[in-house]
Amino acid sequence: AGGAVADGLIVLLAAPRSFCAGVERAVEIVEKALEQRAHPVYVRKQIVHNSHVVAALEARGAVFVDELDEVPHGATVVFSAHGVSPAVRAEADRRGLAVVDATCPLVTKVHAEARRFAGRGDTVVLVGHAGHEEVEGTLGEAPRRTVLVADVAGVAALEVEDPERVSYLTQTTLAADEVAEVVAALRARFPRLRGPGSDDICYATTNRQEAVKAIARDADVVLVVGSTNSSNSQRLVELARRLGTPAHLIDDVRAVRAEWLAGARVVGLSAGASAPPRLVDEVIEVLRARGPVTVQERAVAAEHLQFALPPAVRA
Ligand code: SF4
Repeated sequence: AGGAVADGLIVLLAAPRSFCAGVERAVEIVEKALEQRAHPVYVRKQIVHNSHVVAALEARGAVFVDELDEVPHGATVVFSAHGVSPAVRAEADRRGLAVVDATCPLVTKVHAEARRFAGRGDTVVLVGHAGHEEVEGTLGEAPRRTVLVADVAGVAALEVEDPERVSYLTQTTLAADEVAEVVAALRARFPRLRGPGSDDICYATTNRQEAVKAIARDADVVLVVGSTNSSNSQRLVELARRLGTPAHLIDDVRAVRAEWLAGARVVGLSAGASAPPRLVDEVIEVLRARGPVTVQERAVAAEHLQFALPPAVRA
């Protein structure tokens, strides 16, 4: 590890970390809807996969529901950043709901690819995790033409209509190195495989993974702030572990266990794209309360992307 030798603990801060453009936009959409619309404002599923974000919006009046049948006729409902299937949109129409769509534009892009690939008659192989809301939404674009694959083992078991006509898509928050292996296995089985024009793994996922790589090798332990249902946060923990560094996912600083830090001189710190920056600051504050701390940030990329709000909540 480079850098001056300091007394006490060194915190290696990964950058970028924490909120991405899609999450910032989704949270702002709910805040605007709460300001502009009659209450209650309903949100289908967690707006983003973070318990603190959900609790803060709940405190301001948002009502989180699992399915649309919990929303009264005519009410406002926000769709989460992970996107929804066309069947959910149709149901919202049937129920006369006022929809405010917080789907991340980078998820919408994958939906458009799914329609295009299925539309040209391909079997669409979606690389992703069963049950994740984003996967359910994307699968719903062409349910009869899409098959889900989680890993290399799943590729061998695939059955497709025509091996000459296969395309793939991926969930936006997967580990880049794992997806590369799955795509290589797909290409080995289906040499005419076609994919998206540019990677479906989003810029925020990629940057946070590169940043964790940049800190993990030099850290004795890595802490990733994020909730357990956050896919991209889980991938950061796994990536650090694959690099040989013990790593832990923490919902907030209260989850940090003293034994994880025992003997550690360098603590790596990052946060998933759905975790508020404040939670990272709190971790540093609590570490400072234990003794001297030097914070060194390692930035692998600068992020300037911002997404416009949808017309439904524009002032
Ligand atoms: Fe959008 Fe990527 Fe953020 Fe998901 S992680 S909300 S795809 S920018």
